[in-house]
Amino acid sequence: MAAPFDVAVIGAGVVGAAVARALSAFDLRTVLIEAGPDVGTGTSKANTAILHTGFDAAPGSMEARLVARGYALMSAYAAEVGIPVEQTGACLVAWNEDEVVQLPVIEEKAAANGCRGLRRLSGDELYAMEPHLGPGARAGLLIPGEGIVCPFTAPLAMATEAVVNGVELRLDSRVTSMESDGSIHVLGCGPDPIAARYVVNAAGLQADTIEGLFGRHRFRVRPRRGELIVYDKMARRLLSHVLLPVPTKTTKGVLVAPTVFGNVLLGPTATDVDDKEDRSTTREGLEYVLAKGGRVLPALVNEEVTATYAGLRAATESSDYQIHFDPVLRYLCLGGIRSTGLSASLGIAEHAVELLAGPLPMTLKRDRKKVRMPPVGEGMVRAYEDASLIARDPEYGRIVCHCERVTAGEIRDALRSPVPARGLEGLRRRTRCLQGRCQGFYCLGGLVSLVARETGRPAAAFLEALA
Ligand SMILES: Cc1cc2nc3c(=O)[nH]c(=O)nc-3n(C[C@H](O)[C@H](O)[C@H](O)COP(=O)(O)OP(=O)(O)OC[C@H]3O[C@@H](n4cnc5c(N)ncnc54)[C@H](O)[C@@H]3O)c2cc1C
Repeated sequence: MAAPFDVAVIGAGVVGAAVARALSAFDLRTVLIEAGPDVGTGTSKANTAILHTGFDAAPGSMEARLVARGYALMSAYAAEVGIPVEQTGACLVAWNEDEVVQLPVIEEKAAANGCRGLRRLSGDELYAMEPHLGPGARAGLLIPGEGIVCPFTAPLAMATEAVVNGVELRLDSRVTSMESDGSIHVLGCGPDPIAARYVVNAAGLQADTIEGLFGRHRFRVRPRRGELIVYDKMARRLLSHVLLPVPTKTTKGVLVAPTVFGNVLLGPTATDVDDKEDRSTTREGLEYVLAKGGRVLPALVNEEVTATYAGLRAATESSDYQIHFDPVLRYLCLGGIRSTGLSASLGIAEHAVELLAGPLPMTLKRDRKKVRMPPVGEGMVRAYEDASLIARDPEYGRIVCHCERVTAGEIRDALRSPVPARGLEGLRRRTRCLQGRCQGFYCLGGLVSLVARETGRPAAAFLEALA
């Protein structure tokens, strides 16, 4: 077996990718192990994509601290590497007297969480800001820091930075066993077991299974499904802010939000389920969000739907994150990262490094390579509209996905990047291709031919499931 790694991170979702990136700054040998075929294919690809300030988290909780820190870190990191982020602000809307009386309570919570700048809104102010709101909005709160972020680019940027700085990425490698002599853990994950001195569990929905391999049973993951509807870009004119309901004890509720690709999202539901793999949508779930959306933004429900999807939150018995470090066991668990992990990821990673740095000597590397992600956000200058880029390389002027205006140059780059797309699903998350209103109906054939030409593999190899 190869020499042991210093750290093995299990799970290449946004949390594991953030940890691998953070560790890549140090002179450590790190491996990022992922069961799936790509980075970010678990819950990290199917969420609501809000960059939360943490204004409504439970004050004093681990989640409150790490979301606030993650928000600050992500805002800076997104600008540095080109992750699409828009600070739209959010309007939290109260529709009845019971909800109106909650507004000062939420303001107090936000203040306790260090989230500043909230402003109370009268009904008139709400309608002035969001004229398409349904009738009956009584009052609201403006949370100016809330925003939207690209859930696909974030983990890809982090994993790319980790890889170019020396982290080994092992895809298609599900960890199924662990043996330890007290100082070296050997992780069984296919034909090539991996030995490591420290293990970080960032396995999302499977974090409790990995806990079991280490003889720990501190929580059980019960998936909480969230179903969402994506509306076509013509619906984008209907709102300026993220529109939030007053949260309850159990859920943040159904929201309406713009996306960084110029669409509108409606959802999610919050239903406890047993199956950790079942990401299907249901008739009841979609009807539920439609009913809620019709109240908030009546015109939305007549707009065209581009897609529907569901994601599974890694809910546990606790409402807080399950972060536990066993220095003697050399095992760090980052579990129960339920509904805010995209926002908190860089804060969680920073905390993870602080914990590991206790027993594990770490020296910062002198040179650290930076990455720059392709500009896929609607608020950015996209390749197809960048005249100087097209003048240098006409492939950036050759559009292959017309709904989302993705060019042949971007497809080629995604196939050649340090963490390359290995199929259509990977291309979809890296470039936006196949995400538009036609969902590939018009461009799929041309796209597959292009990919086959670029990779030298038969076209049929790319016609795997797109969802
Ligand atoms: C409906 C919904 C809406 C949400 N909205 C938001 C939001 O607006 N803002 C926000 O900040 N957060 C949001 N979240 C939460 C956020 O998406 C999650 O907290 C975050 O994606 C969790 O990341 P993760 O890396 O822990 O898990 P995952 O992304 O699930 O990654 C875990 C990875 O571990 C891998 N894995 C599992 N077992 C093994 C094994 N044995 N060996 C190797 N690999 C393994 C999996 O394949 C997976 O890729 C939402 C979640 C849902 C479901």
